[in-house]
Amino acid sequence: MGSGGKRGSAIFLAYLNGYGPEWADALGLRMAEIFSRPFRRLDVELDLGPSYDARRQQHEATLLLAGLLRHLPDAHSRIVGITSEDLFIPVLTFVFGLSQLGGPGALVSTHRLQNEFYGLPRDDRLFFERTVKGAIHELGHAFGLVHCPDYRCVMHAATYVEDVDLKDAGFCAECETLLERAQVGDEQAGADGRRQPQS
Ligand SMILES: [Zn+2]
Ligand SMILES: [Zn+2]
Repeated sequence: MGSGGKRGSAIFLAYLNGYGPEWADALGLRMAEIFSRPFRRLDVELDLGPSYDARRQQHEATLLLAGLLRHLPDAHSRIVGITSEDLFIPVLTFVFGLSQLGGPGALVSTHRLQNEFYGLPRDDRLFFERTVKGAIHELGHAFGLVHCPDYRCVMHAATYVEDVDLKDAGFCAECETLLERAQVGDEQAGADGRRQPQS
């Protein structure tokens, strides 16, 4: 590898099934600032049939994430899927995203991050900021971080989009320390670890 400042293996931002928002490259750049890793864009086609629940008109996040993981480019990388589909897990009405705690994969839905979903005027800047926060949050879980009690921290659990808006697009000091440790450990050990789903 080169001698650049970005350490560790690349993290892939995978846009699912033709989703190509205009901020796709900007998201990678923001993520690279936070995680000190190179981010590479992927376009991934998943079979959306198995995860679709016709009654709920939503996709089961766990199944979609499992499908995404089959596209992990190499065993030591991580992948963050970005979809405009609405996601759920059986115990919740919806989720903004899902990831495996300490695992290689994370999934973010932008479906409920747009003002239009709530009948409010379109706001592209707000939409992008919410997506940045969602992607950092889910990838934080993939690095082993759990929910943080500090409502300003990006690892705080968001039930409503208002919770997302209250957060910073970054980690509190404590989570930042944990992330640093995880990223160093990751370099040494690869992306192994516990694999519990987190939303
Ligand atoms: Zn925190
Ligand atoms: Zn979470």
